[in-house]
Amino acid sequence: MQSSKNIRNFGIIAHIDAGKTTTTERILYLSGSTYKIGEVDDGTTITDWMLEEKEHGITITSAAVSCLWNNSMFHLIDTPGHVDFTAEVQRSLRVLDGAVVVFCGVSGVQTQSETVWKQADKYNIPRIVFINKLDRLGANFDFVIKDIKKKLKAVTLPVTIPLYKNDNLKEIINLITMKKLSFKEDGNINEIVGLTNDETKYAEKYKEEMINTLTNFDDKILELALSDCLKEEDLIKAIRKGAIERKFIPVFAGSSLKNIGIPPLLDAIEHYLPSPDDIGFINGFNSKKEIWEKILFKSDSDLVAYIFKVQFSREKGIIAFLRVYSGKFKNGDSLFNPRTKKRERVQDLLKVFADKFERIDHVSAGDIVTVSGLKDVKTGDTLCRENYQVLLENITFPEPVIFMTIETKNALEKEKLNTAIDAFLLEDPTIVFKEDKDTGQTLIGGMGELHIQIILERMKNQYKLDLRCGHPQVAYKETPKNSTSYTYVFNQKIEGNIQHVTLTLEITPDERTKGNLIKNELDKKQSDIFSSIEKGITNGLNSGPEGAYPVTDSVITIKDIEYDQSKTSPVAVEACANICTGYLLREAKTILLEPIMKLEISTPVEFTGTIIGDLQSRNGIILNVHKTGDVDVIIAKASLKVMFGYTTSLRSLSQGKATFTMEFLLYDEG
Ligand code: GDP
Ligand code: MG
Repeated sequence: MQSSKNIRNFGIIAHIDAGKTTTTERILYLSGSTYKIGEVDDGTTITDWMLEEKEHGITITSAAVSCLWNNSMFHLIDTPGHVDFTAEVQRSLRVLDGAVVVFCGVSGVQTQSETVWKQADKYNIPRIVFINKLDRLGANFDFVIKDIKKKLKAVTLPVTIPLYKNDNLKEIINLITMKKLSFKEDGNINEIVGLTNDETKYAEKYKEEMINTLTNFDDKILELALSDCLKEEDLIKAIRKGAIERKFIPVFAGSSLKNIGIPPLLDAIEHYLPSPDDIGFINGFNSKKEIWEKILFKSDSDLVAYIFKVQFSREKGIIAFLRVYSGKFKNGDSLFNPRTKKRERVQDLLKVFADKFERIDHVSAGDIVTVSGLKDVKTGDTLCRENYQVLLENITFPEPVIFMTIETKNALEKEKLNTAIDAFLLEDPTIVFKEDKDTGQTLIGGMGELHIQIILERMKNQYKLDLRCGHPQVAYKETPKNSTSYTYVFNQKIEGNIQHVTLTLEITPDERTKGNLIKNELDKKQSDIFSSIEKGITNGLNSGPEGAYPVTDSVITIKDIEYDQSKTSPVAVEACANICTGYLLREAKTILLEPIMKLEISTPVEFTGTIIGDLQSRNGIILNVHKTGDVDVIIAKASLKVMFGYTTSLRSLSQGKATFTMEFLLYDEG
């Protein structure tokens, strides 16, 4: 059985166009998983077959692809680049142990990589950097390193560096061996040879920096360096330790498109990214969500597996991608889902290689597999045994910022739509479907225009649903304008008894992005009804007085309650708190908040003025304009509602030459 020491669960993180797909293709090819190299530009890549259903009935929106390198089993977990797919990024960060961050050798650190970098910080994920596209005109390895230091506040440690001949990237120098590598056309290593004097001089500067960085964190290296006994293994060991402890980020150079520098990158994944063993444990809590306990990543412990993605296939039903954190199970086993309190049988256990599936009969700690046969599961579920029930912390997903009405063309299709909706809800926790209270129409909500557009395209491709769509509308929120308090006297018959509850609540506006906080000033004796009051308040906050939008950024304090302990039901307390919150909000009055987005636009210099002018006419605020390589980068913020259809506008403003990304920043007054 594979030891989990030899497993690398990792993702590739990159800004759009930095070369994530191209790099992935090279990794799959060189590790022997595919027999020919796929090219993004010819539409022949493995991982970009996204929406196509393969004959096995599984869509290769591949959540995870496995491949072998040397003695290690790599599980490459997909992390989509576009910020509209936050849910995908978050859920994949959760299951991976390490990441390869790809930067473009010309553009350096772009916003989206900044965002994902921060998320990776949040999950404590060790990473290595691949500086790609170093073959391009204007590429500058040192500039990207500086940019990483500046924007990401990271300590970098170059391990391979580019070697140019007459401005052409031909080879890579490995600073550990101080040798240069050339590559065959298909990316395999051609030759490893020593350096010339000039090359040694060039490389020594980086090597010195490497030793300096290492000695800052590792006394042994200093000793060995001083006594001139520093061996390659010592360096690899020290870099591995520092990288896994997140003291610094090892950096590798190359060009995926030109097949330069990929085998050293594969070695780096094996050498410098952690195995599940290195990570050791994850926090879990028991079925009452109370006591935290450490789930050790060991095969001989109790089973804990986590479903990080669910896909729906009409042939196979639900297909779950899961990571086994601890314990083991085999084909045919029954697994327990604490959320549904049900046992479910594993029908088929598969490992997904690049373009084939391999049936396996058992799986153990550290591994990632695909399971079919489970009936009632969704993303975020934990699976375990009935006698050891444990939950892993659930991922909190952001709420949708944009809605659109969708309508089927006839009643027959309505049923098809409901089936599709059920399947999408299973797969993507950031999509929302709801009914418009006034019109009865179905609304679809998501993280951005692109997100919704892709779902609608998939409805069309996979479910043959041709929907009529309304204009996009933003999801508003409300926030209290003033501080105030309110006392509500509840007097109603519930469960056969007249119930009297008198409740006093106080509200104060909080700063933007704070969310809601409920404070309790009641004495301890009344703590048993606190959860009922809290439920009532939370429900009341779902619908503000201005437009029935959810209320945010408020502090609500429970000041006082009077009720008859012997005969008041929790239902009455909850109802009282709900109604009281409604009156409280009406007293405080609310103001509307709307989603404000952060934009990053890259454009050839000649369009910069026009694009800025257009943004200003949309009341956008320009935060920064700077040059990166041969393009200008404009950073701005603007209200989402004036940015609908911006893809099209920008295309016409720049003759199709500018690109942009947009991500949610905060809810604020428009
Ligand atoms: P992704 O959006 O991050 O997945 O990026 P892709 O892999 O789709 O690459 C975006 C574009 O950059 C494609 O046209 C690739 O052919 C090109 N590209 C990727 N890697 C390189 C590289 O190393 N050098 C050059 N010159 N182009 C590259
Ligand atoms: Mg791609």
